[in-house]
Amino acid sequence: MDRYITNFDTKKLPEEKVEVVVIGAGIAGLSTALQLIKLGIKPLIISETKIGNSNSFLAQGGIAAAISKDDDPEYHYLDTIKAGKGLCIDRNVRVLVEEGVERVIDLIKYGVPFDIENGKIKLTREGAHSKRRVLHVKDKTGSAIGKTLWEILSAENVHIGVEYKLEEIITVNNKVAGIIVSKRNSKYFIRAKSVVLATGGYSSIFLRNTSQYYISGNTLSIAYRSGATLMDLEFVQFHPTALDLEGFPAYLISEAVRGEGAILIDDNGERFIDELKPRDEVARAIFLKNLEGKKVYLDITPLKEKGINFEERFPNIASMLKYVGLAGKTKIPVSPAAHYTIGGIKAQADGKTKIEGLFSVGEVSCTGVHGANRLASNSLLECVVFGFKTAYSVFVHNMNNDFVKIPDIKNQGSESENKSHLNNEIILNLKKLMWEKVGLIRNKESLEEAFKTLEQLEENANNNYLKDIINLAKAITVSALNREESRGVHFRKDFPYEREEFKKHSILNKNLKINLEVS
Ligand SMILES: Cc1cc2nc3c(=O)[nH]c(=O)nc-3n(C[C@H](O)[C@H](O)[C@H](O)COP(=O)(O)OP(=O)(O)OC[C@H]3O[C@@H](n4cnc5c(N)ncnc54)[C@H](O)[C@@H]3O)c2cc1C
Repeated sequence: MDRYITNFDTKKLPEEKVEVVVIGAGIAGLSTALQLIKLGIKPLIISETKIGNSNSFLAQGGIAAAISKDDDPEYHYLDTIKAGKGLCIDRNVRVLVEEGVERVIDLIKYGVPFDIENGKIKLTREGAHSKRRVLHVKDKTGSAIGKTLWEILSAENVHIGVEYKLEEIITVNNKVAGIIVSKRNSKYFIRAKSVVLATGGYSSIFLRNTSQYYISGNTLSIAYRSGATLMDLEFVQFHPTALDLEGFPAYLISEAVRGEGAILIDDNGERFIDELKPRDEVARAIFLKNLEGKKVYLDITPLKEKGINFEERFPNIASMLKYVGLAGKTKIPVSPAAHYTIGGIKAQADGKTKIEGLFSVGEVSCTGVHGANRLASNSLLECVVFGFKTAYSVFVHNMNNDFVKIPDIKNQGSESENKSHLNNEIILNLKKLMWEKVGLIRNKESLEEAFKTLEQLEENANNNYLKDIINLAKAITVSALNREESRGVHFRKDFPYEREEFKKHSILNKNLKINLEVS
């Protein structure tokens, strides 16, 4: 995978020197940046997209924390561990649920306008949570949190460079020296003591996905090339209920709709699954109906019967339904779509990775906190809790380290143009392949076929971006092939059961070799 590393001659590029650069302006990046400010370090934030155009700002359902009087972090811990099917890293789950309460209180104090009922924060129950513990701002929770964080950062004059893309992480002897970014066709070198990757997940590598389509996870390949370890890439969460209407993207219909009472029915109007079971089970049940040629609908009649005003409780979803011509309809056609990626850059709860000075936080990271299956609304929590902690480990790193000197390197002249990746035919074929062969239900044959095709696609890849995406796809496929069992969101038709010998994490070493390791 490292054979196409570009040796940029950093001396030839315009340079900026900063203490910390945070890459990504979703809730993970913004949370880290805000805490850095509180610690007296002003970070530079760069983002491929404008503020507001990240998956964080799409988050509908909410953020989980044990704040009700009949709840306790211990119950939240037990629910998270149960959903994770033996693969959660225990100490990180403890941090998530315990410090989660504190970080959510911070959000309340910052002014996030969480929904209130009778003077108290209103809490929803979502799938596999044993208590009502999901705070929400109607169905716009992510954007409400993101806007609040951004307002505070703007007031502190924090600078954000938008439309800058990460191209390369420069390391010297396993220490971060800085990054190369590009804007349009110009490249820049940002020298930094610490680099925080908060670049989101890779679900958009699958054809049907609920993600912002340009967030592609290529930064995982960049980090891998620079020496970081990737972990548990085969664990991709497919959301059961994304819109399934020809000509429209797979818009998410939040689990909270089922939490409030909506049911799933097939063409015959029959229920076929407990709607609040873990997502992977619900998603597979729908997918199997689809494979039988049946449509599945989310029936929202029970909400009306309970007196819930759908348009008021879910204004975003209601306006999307209006946009696609389903306003006022009670049966919404749905099917699964890739939604959240559990795997990522192996990191500790405080963001540390294998590379000194490189931190990874939010969906791009893998801290083992979700195990083999993420509990709904735990990912926004992960962004705020681990973002907060990452700021402290950046502080300590910067206190103890100088800027890294870069030895003269020969420019090999192999810098390729950063070609636009949108509407690229190869990418489209790759996404179809990943959906069909590496999607919800996998087996040895489909995975081997996918890997072979990816190798063929690689032969025509003419720029780093494409190579990074193909390599990420290969890494996911190899990880899924290696895991000869079914666990959590990873389902193998040829091994439809858990196997004790696989109760381990998939660690991706050099040349796509996998080691299974106990956490
Ligand atoms: C539709 C939808 C609804 C969801 N609902 C919920 C929910 O209710 N509750 C919950 O807990 N979770 C939810 N999730 C999951 C949750 O939103 C994400 O896991 C979380 O927001 C990820 O945040 P992040 O900051 O890690 O990444 P993101 O919010 O994805 O932000 C990534 C940032 O990195 C930047 N970036 C990416 N690549 C590059 C690059 N090469 N160079 C420079 N910048 C780059 C992007 O431009 C962006 O600014 C939902 C996800 C989706 C898609």
